[in-house]
Amino acid sequence: MTNISISKLLIANRGEIACRIIRTAQRMGIECVAVYSDADKNAQHVKLADEAWYIGPSPAQESYLRSDKILQVAKQSGANAVHPGYGFLSENAEFAATCQQNNIIFVGPPVGAIEAMGSKSEAKRIMHEAEVPLVSGYHGDEQSESLLQAEADKIGYPLLIKATAGGGGKGMRVVESSAEFIDALNSCKREAKSSFGDDKVLIEKYLTKPRHVEIQVFADSLGNAVHLFERDCSVQRRHQKVIEEAPAPGLTEETREQMGQVAIKAAKAIGYQGAGTVEFLYDEDGSFYFMEMNTRLQVEHPVTEMITGLDLVEWQIVVANGNPLPKQQAQLSINGHAFEARIYAEDPNNDFLPATGLISYMGTPSTNQHVRVDSGIISGDQVSVYYDPMIAKLIVWDTDRNAALARLRGALADFHVAGLTTNIEFLHQLASNDSFIGADLDTHFLDKHGEELI
Ligand code: ADP
Repeated sequence: MTNISISKLLIANRGEIACRIIRTAQRMGIECVAVYSDADKNAQHVKLADEAWYIGPSPAQESYLRSDKILQVAKQSGANAVHPGYGFLSENAEFAATCQQNNIIFVGPPVGAIEAMGSKSEAKRIMHEAEVPLVSGYHGDEQSESLLQAEADKIGYPLLIKATAGGGGKGMRVVESSAEFIDALNSCKREAKSSFGDDKVLIEKYLTKPRHVEIQVFADSLGNAVHLFERDCSVQRRHQKVIEEAPAPGLTEETREQMGQVAIKAAKAIGYQGAGTVEFLYDEDGSFYFMEMNTRLQVEHPVTEMITGLDLVEWQIVVANGNPLPKQQAQLSINGHAFEARIYAEDPNNDFLPATGLISYMGTPSTNQHVRVDSGIISGDQVSVYYDPMIAKLIVWDTDRNAALARLRGALADFHVAGLTTNIEFLHQLASNDSFIGADLDTHFLDKHGEELI
């Protein structure tokens, strides 16, 4: 491990997460280098950084995904570290390896850990060996139709076919019966091929009423690992998270501790370092199953920060510098309850079609210990077609879930965007919904209640 400290950090990202990383890094006395595309010439992350370098045209393929250009900027600017944020190059093992070969610290896990978790089937193999509980299923290399059909019949229905290279909710098919299997397999393979360039799949039992509960883990280069408790991300639309919260309502202390220990075991099994998230499906009866591990900082990390009082980006930098974790497990505890709502430029009345164009006005609620707004946008900015149309993350905290929910409703009512359609009213309806207030959660929450919220 390196003993050079990070003195100049290139942030290989844009939007709210670039701004959020820059704020912490600057507070730690680190100089920040932003990179930007044509569409982002006047973006907030460019203004916040100590210096900013142009890396190419607006499409991400020609800018934020150009590892060669980003590396070149790192070298020319004298940055000795790169923070990839989430999305873009954050889980690209080759990029992490190239950084290291050029003596640039990659603020993320070791290359081997990214590779191991990059394939859902490989990840499951490793976790099976480490005795981490898995949903029953088939994740082998052999992919003939007849074998997959036989495995499917063995697992039973309903089941889920997943692209092993998949992500972002893409490349998944629920299959209700044996007769439907081959058609679903073919359509899943087609989508996997076109989205990920790899049509390998795995099959697993489809849990009918699971919650998505994930554990935040952190490990350092000295062999220490802790968990920072859980987040419940069950409220999803097309497998994309809409609202996240921490802690997970109704989880017993015992289950929390078990899940935390299993997540640490999972991280240790792959020699993990830095911030990672172990995602589980959590069943009503308290059982839980490993789904995948995300080898980066998650969009929803702020809810964990709100209940632990920690700055996860600071921890990432500490660990990337080769230093021990700032705290041990016994020093960590949960304080209160937090929610994050993802505010999107999209139209809930029109199948959540993304909206693009000028944000003529954006007024955000005042921030304090109860309300935090992470955004890369201000009045007068454009939401372009090129990137994710998330405008802001609204994060709230209070001493218990109901009080935090009241804060969320209040803060959403104070969040105003003019010029573009947003999901703010939809989120407000969600935060006011009796089933949501009653924490009657599972991953089908929006399938069941979505109509009531529009
Ligand atoms: P991605 O990498 O595309 O996000 P995941 O494997 O993390 O895919 O799954 C995304 C979502 O799909 C989960 O949050 C959960 O809602 C649902 N899901 C995944 N596996 C299962 C399963 N075996 N049974 C029921 N739902 C599942």
